[in-house]
Amino acid sequence: PPIVVRELAEQLKLKPFKLIADLMELGVFANVNQAIDESVAQRICAKYGYRFEVEKRERGSGIIHAPIKKIEVDIEDKPEQLKPRAPVVTIMGHVDHGKTTLLDVIRKSDVVAGEAGGITQHIGAYTISFPHPERKNELQQITFLDTPGHAAFSAMRARGANVTDIVVLVVAANDGVMPQTLEALSHAQAAKAEIMVAVNKVDHPNANPMRVRQQLQEKGLVCEEWGGKTLFVDVSAITKQGVDKLLEAILLQAEIMELKANPDRRAKGNVIESGLEPGGPTATVLVRKGTLHLGDVVICGPFYGKVRALINEENKRLKEAGPSVAVKLLGLNGVPEAGLEFTVEENEKEARDIAEKRTMEARAMGQEARAKVTLENLFATMSSTSAKVLKLVVKADTQGSVEAIVEALKKIESDKVSLEVIHSAVGTITESDVALASASNAVILGFHTRIDNGVSDEAKREGVQIKLYAIIYELIDQVKESMAGLLDPLY
Ligand code: GDP
Repeated sequence: PPIVVRELAEQLKLKPFKLIADLMELGVFANVNQAIDESVAQRICAKYGYRFEVEKRERGSGIIHAPIKKIEVDIEDKPEQLKPRAPVVTIMGHVDHGKTTLLDVIRKSDVVAGEAGGITQHIGAYTISFPHPERKNELQQITFLDTPGHAAFSAMRARGANVTDIVVLVVAANDGVMPQTLEALSHAQAAKAEIMVAVNKVDHPNANPMRVRQQLQEKGLVCEEWGGKTLFVDVSAITKQGVDKLLEAILLQAEIMELKANPDRRAKGNVIESGLEPGGPTATVLVRKGTLHLGDVVICGPFYGKVRALINEENKRLKEAGPSVAVKLLGLNGVPEAGLEFTVEENEKEARDIAEKRTMEARAMGQEARAKVTLENLFATMSSTSAKVLKLVVKADTQGSVEAIVEALKKIESDKVSLEVIHSAVGTITESDVALASASNAVILGFHTRIDNGVSDEAKREGVQIKLYAIIYELIDQVKESMAGLLDPLY
């Protein structure tokens, strides 16, 4: 069964005996160490205004409990209700490798561009239609998130929005793999997104697309031509060479992934971008399930409201938006943070009640809600999750020290916890590292390096631990002790 009583009590911040009493009311008799069924857990959660969800996407038996604020009741979709949906794609890569230019030409590849004649506005995402590579008269859609930036990507993920299906890693053929290419790769892998590579700038006189393949092979991305599983497409955002092929590759990849959603239910999705305009707060939302309609009552974090308008990137007013469609929504009574989930409620009164409750809870919990893993509290935080993994981001002054540290970390043996270095690189500790660590619940270890300006504060806000060392064996010993549960808690 999905959850042990003690764990559920922890998640709901209830005293175990209170939970046991609640269970008795339902006719379920269990002690703190016994597991209860999903249906029972759902009823208990519902009683306290939370949702209990068993994450099915993760491989293995892992049950992932969303942070407390996200436990709420949700409808289960039946297989026959699921219809194919468009892939959601994020383009990532090193600065100046051509992400913006590529996003721009892709937008212009839309075969049903509106009569407005290409007057588009930036809302944080856009959807294009493109012919299926084999069935040319069949138009398919792809949604691109056009807010490039690794920190933004992982900041959204930290708030629960793992919305990207496919990451297109852009690498300039003249420049090859660069530090932020690898950083992007770490972010995409941590998000468990499908990764494709666009080798850009192949028109450049110094272009060497084979070298890019070789460099990435060393990082585990082996192209199909060489017997691997990763799709590489040579493109030029300037001459437009290969751009159609890239779009076709995305569609083929999406087909293999069998992306589906139920369009016939109340909508649910995430905020991509938000802002305050003369007409009031706006939020670009990406619908993930169901269909969002004009007049629906939406709740999003502590804010709610009736949908007054749905506007797409061509400035068209829509009556509704289905799965994988991004629209700018007007009608909320506040500006929600990017990444937050939205849902649709029965009526405004219900939405207001939930919103008020959330505001109160948020105040009551304050910073506590951000309790993340540290080397000292490793075991305490792990008891409420199923995967026993210590995730680390490693930054050091030289490539030699990065390699030495990662090698030594890999050699640590523990039967209680496994260790995963989700990102390692030369350099200072940046905002992007903190976003990645926050989204993945990782600890950042720095060796002979420093923390960028302002990044300490950001880490504090996100509850991410950063530890700096000057001696390698001290770093290794601390990790060892942490994994053995030997470090004293810090207060
Ligand atoms: P971003 O930082 O990754 O968003 O990169 P940009 O899209 O801003 O592009 C950086 C520079 O590379 C600009 O001067 C572009 O004109 C240029 N660029 C982008 N794509 C190509 C390409 O395919 N070929 C060549 N030769 N230059 C390109």
